Amino acid sequence: MNYEPVIGLEIHVQLKTKTKMFCGCPTHDTAVAPNTHVCPICLGQPGVLPVVNAQAVRYGMLMGLALNCEIAEHSKFDRKNYFYPDLPKAYQISQFDLPIAINGHVDIEVPGGEREVARIGITRAHLEEDAAKNFHETGASTLVDFNRGGTPLIEIVTEPDFRSAKEAKIFLQELRLIARYLGISDADMEKGHLRCDANVSLRLIDDQGGIVGARFNPKTEVKNLNSFKHVEKAIEHEIKRQTKLWETQTPPMISTTRGWNDTQNRTEEQRSKEEAADYRYFPEPDIPPLELKDLADELRTKLPELPAVRRARFQNEYALKPSDARQVCDDPLLADFVEHTFSELHAWLIALPELQETEASVLDHEKQKLGRLVAGWLLSKLGGLLTERSIDVRTMKITPENFAEFITLIATHKLNNTAGLKVLNAMLDDGSDPSQIMESQKLGRVEDEGILAELVTQVISNHPAEVARYKAGEDQLLQFLIGMVMRASEGTADSGIVRNMLLVELKSE
Ligand code: ADP
Ligand code: ZN
Ligand code: MG
Repeated sequence: MNYEPVIGLEIHVQLKTKTKMFCGCPTHDTAVAPNTHVCPICLGQPGVLPVVNAQAVRYGMLMGLALNCEIAEHSKFDRKNYFYPDLPKAYQISQFDLPIAINGHVDIEVPGGEREVARIGITRAHLEEDAAKNFHETGASTLVDFNRGGTPLIEIVTEPDFRSAKEAKIFLQELRLIARYLGISDADMEKGHLRCDANVSLRLIDDQGGIVGARFNPKTEVKNLNSFKHVEKAIEHEIKRQTKLWETQTPPMISTTRGWNDTQNRTEEQRSKEEAADYRYFPEPDIPPLELKDLADELRTKLPELPAVRRARFQNEYALKPSDARQVCDDPLLADFVEHTFSELHAWLIALPELQETEASVLDHEKQKLGRLVAGWLLSKLGGLLTERSIDVRTMKITPENFAEFITLIATHKLNNTAGLKVLNAMLDDGSDPSQIMESQKLGRVEDEGILAELVTQVISNHPAEVARYKAGEDQLLQFLIGMVMRASEGTADSGIVRNMLLVELKSE
């Protein structure tokens, strides 16, 4: 028998609209003075009328569609009543029984996990407004900044379908990426655009994985996790804590709410669900119901290519390894760069005279070689140079056209790896063209056999001891001699040619 973790997430994503959910105030993202982006509506003064932000509805529906949800034909807003200083109306406008989206799912890949692929059910997604922000000052006072109050949110509730902290983290990261692809949120956890509550319980399973006893047990809800690391650590801690309770025959009897204490590295009890507020939901009388069918049909046609589809396409079309495709597609701008680079490269490939009228399999093989070259040069080599210079694909001076040309120089052996790195560095310096750099800095491969033969002879006569040892049977010294010739050519010789020339020379001596 084993304890199986059962985990469900509730996620809030701040929508990147220009104005708030129900008024014309600018949404608060950059540093502005507290309580400047406010008006009678978002301050909850009597007699005002909220007006729904159409862009927020579209953004929320796009998310619902991206999560494979059914979009409600009829939806409405409700009042969720509770009293707290961050909520001036003493109710939050949210959605209760008719959310904009229900019954979706997202497939995640969990490399090295117990399940390689997991389908996570989406219970619902609904629109609501954010609360203001409390600042608990030292001493007894609490200050409230209402700038955030009324910012549009979409809340996404998953089924309890996760079986590990890792699965939950991967799902959240995928959700962040989906939001970015849709352009509806930056979904930056550090900035509070993406916030997560994790619900965790355990259940007993037998050795065949069959559930023993209750299908679901009382859960703990860990509130306000604001980084991927916290989500993972809090769930792991909660699994350990509850396992101990089960092992001592005292499993949780009621659902509770806990908080994550990052300094103590543990979850802490906040309140039990039995005492939780009764929100007395009722329909918001000031906002007409939403009729969403036509808009849903329109938005379905406008859905961009989503990360999972793009990753699969990059693997198929560009012959990228799954891990490389993932790395590239994690950054939409990097993915655009790669896409542009390959379209140049494939155009170049198809136009090559020697590839005219060849079989498709030959072309495929060449495309695979280009895929490996681009992955190697872009992700490891250029990636390393960018890190050294603290810049990224957004700020670097290399265009996809120039990068594609650079790859063709490598692919046709006009540049070897050593010289290639020098060219790449020079391209980063001023954005210039790789062929020009190669010529002006004389970095092109030394193809002139005469020059190479001279270098080979020089190296042999300068290293009589090593040559003697090689001839006495120390084969590994060949590598040393190749290295010496390469150095003499300042890295521009082709090491294969050098090797052959050395072998011939050493034999004939
Ligand atoms: P609540 O009564 O707390 O509102 P819900 O049924 O609305 O609970 O579910 C809230 C979240 O908790 C969802 O993400 C759901 O998947 C998850 N959840 C529900 N029951 C469990 C359970 N027994 N263990 C873990 N997660 C659960
Ligand atoms: Zn306002
Ligand atoms: Mg609930």
